[in-house]
Amino acid sequence: MASLLKISGTEIAPGERKIIQLKIAKLYDYTDMNIPVEVIRGKKEGPTLLVSAAVHGDELNGIDIIKRLLVHLKHKTIHGTLIAVPIVNVFGFNNRSRYFMDRRELNRSFPGSKKGSLAAKLAYLFTNEIVKKCDMVIDLHTAAVHRNNIPQIRACLDNAEIKKLALSFGSPLVINSDLIRGSLRQTCYKLGIPLLVYEAGEALRFDETSIQQGLEGILSVMSTYGMISHLPRKKPSAPIISVGSNWTRAPQSGILNVEKKLGDWVVYGDLLGHITDPFGVHNHAVHAKASGLIIGQTELPLVSKGDALFHIAEITS
Ligand SMILES: [Zn+2]
Repeated sequence: MASLLKISGTEIAPGERKIIQLKIAKLYDYTDMNIPVEVIRGKKEGPTLLVSAAVHGDELNGIDIIKRLLVHLKHKTIHGTLIAVPIVNVFGFNNRSRYFMDRRELNRSFPGSKKGSLAAKLAYLFTNEIVKKCDMVIDLHTAAVHRNNIPQIRACLDNAEIKKLALSFGSPLVINSDLIRGSLRQTCYKLGIPLLVYEAGEALRFDETSIQQGLEGILSVMSTYGMISHLPRKKPSAPIISVGSNWTRAPQSGILNVEKKLGDWVVYGDLLGHITDPFGVHNHAVHAKASGLIIGQTELPLVSKGDALFHIAEITS
């Protein structure tokens, strides 16, 4: 017999599809603020997969990826269970912000606590009501505001289970990435639940390529783990695997003109751009501080000394 699945007091039986509102708190005007969760439970046994987005409230690509995934699965039967949470940070989302209303960062608040701030309470509830009931997690992100990322997977590749999950997404670029304290990724690592982060595009923008690759990646994971049968649009080629990444930062404040773009290969010392004053009198060259592939870049030409400008992934093979 299939095991019991209960979220926030609501039972979801095999073969059922339900939308559940995870109660968080009220807004200033006493309106309830909930996290909407959709659960699709197949009649047949299989793994439980969580797909989450907008842990940073202004990162929208993942929301559209989940919407398209749910539409795609409308008349399909699956093996196991899909738990879809398109907007985790509902407070940030409604303020078009990465953060909570009190500027707290949800993805540094995991696993959370019952007694802490609202962000800590939300993280605690999400960890206990959702995450702990899953066998694996796909967490969807974009770059922070005014930055752009080419589609990429971030995961701890030293763990065999996580590496299997990461590669099953079929992304052309997989980056070995250290755990960040307080992140959902670190909490899942400690709980022994494999998690991959899909990073693609900009905050507050939709990017069609990022969305399509994200949807295709989730379907590929579900297919690899026997949840659905899915034929990929095109056979994925072997991914580029990066052992780590570095930021090249602004050597000076001013106005940035770029010479390189996302997806360009660079070697240490290459000219990436110029920072000038408004009259063009002072000109500071920005040189690459690492060799590799540009996987992230600022989109804002106004830079302060020390700002992260180009994110370069180190590629050894
Ligand atoms: Zn994010």
